[in-house]
Amino acid sequence: MTASRQIKKLDEAVINRIAAGEIIRRPSNALKELLENSLDAGATNIQILVKDGGLKLLQIQDNGHGIRKEDMAIVCERFTTSKIETFEDLSRISTYGFRGEALASITHVAHVTITTKTADSSCAYRAHYADSKLVPPKPGVSAEPKPCAGNIGSLITVEDLFYNAPTRREALKNTSEEYKRILDVVNRYAIYNAGISFTCKKQGSNIADVSTLANASTLDNIRQIYGSSTASELLELKKDVESLDLKVKGYVSNANYNVKKMAFLLFINHRAVESLALKKTIESIYANFLPKGTHPFIYISLEMKPQNIDVNVHTTKREVHFLYEDEIIAAIGDVIHERLAGADTSRSFLTQT
Ligand code: ADP
Ligand code: MG
Repeated sequence: MTASRQIKKLDEAVINRIAAGEIIRRPSNALKELLENSLDAGATNIQILVKDGGLKLLQIQDNGHGIRKEDMAIVCERFTTSKIETFEDLSRISTYGFRGEALASITHVAHVTITTKTADSSCAYRAHYADSKLVPPKPGVSAEPKPCAGNIGSLITVEDLFYNAPTRREALKNTSEEYKRILDVVNRYAIYNAGISFTCKKQGSNIADVSTLANASTLDNIRQIYGSSTASELLELKKDVESLDLKVKGYVSNANYNVKKMAFLLFINHRAVESLALKKTIESIYANFLPKGTHPFIYISLEMKPQNIDVNVHTTKREVHFLYEDEIIAAIGDVIHERLAGADTSRSFLTQT
């Protein structure tokens, strides 16, 4: 048996780094937080630049409302937010953010630079951050935000993610896998946010890997990202299930279409989430229509009473649960089944057993 060792409080810096690592586990988590901040800021144009799967560089430029110069000193501190003031505000929240944890966390595991301009400021300001505080860009100069040229909106640069967490960095050395995860996040938000233009590319590349237009519809965005072979085989879903206070919208593939891997893009009250239970139900419906071992394309947006879904789930938790889950999932299943069966009368041979 080993001897009992003295219990000591961890160093503040160590505590912060561990906590940050729980929120930001990989580059795509950081990107999602940054994207949601840009959307919260009312941006209509969001441009993302990535190097080495986001580990070397993750940069996001938006044309949102920007950050006021006076707020730049505290913007990266933990629990600083412009989005709620009281606990009660949580029940009517319409923004993605509210914890004020994301930027702080990122500064504990990366070097962050913010360049930002609000509409009523005559110039932009740039500041550098580490461990949630302003830091000078190089030794001997001031850490204060520095005036510079820039457009209204924010440019946030995250460099050398996990530079101070070597084991995490080591675990993420497959940069093309990390880039794929980043694209997955951008794709989802780009499709959902029709009316906002998104681009995402690798640094040094002339070609964007995601590029959607400001005047495009959801279906246009699906076509842009998944190709017309997918977009032309989709059935529109649109149904209000009043008894459950549920609005279902989306596009799901018909019985002619099948792929090896299911695309499942789910949004609940504007947030990209996962629901294994819903996914399973949908898979089992399509199993009646598709050849064995093949899968559909599913894009679904649900709106339900905010009280029925816990907004206080942690940002890293993408898997959601909600009240009346069984009933809601069954109702969505019915909507899809009805649509598939209805659209499929001319091909009823597919459903014969
Ligand atoms: P939260 O989103 O939970 O408020 P964050 O740490 O993500 O916390 O951001 C802290 C604050 O920084 C936000 O409340 C917002 O005021 C400001 N902010 C962050 N990103 C942007 C952005 N792209 N444009 C404008 N303001 C931003
Ligand atoms: Mg946020």
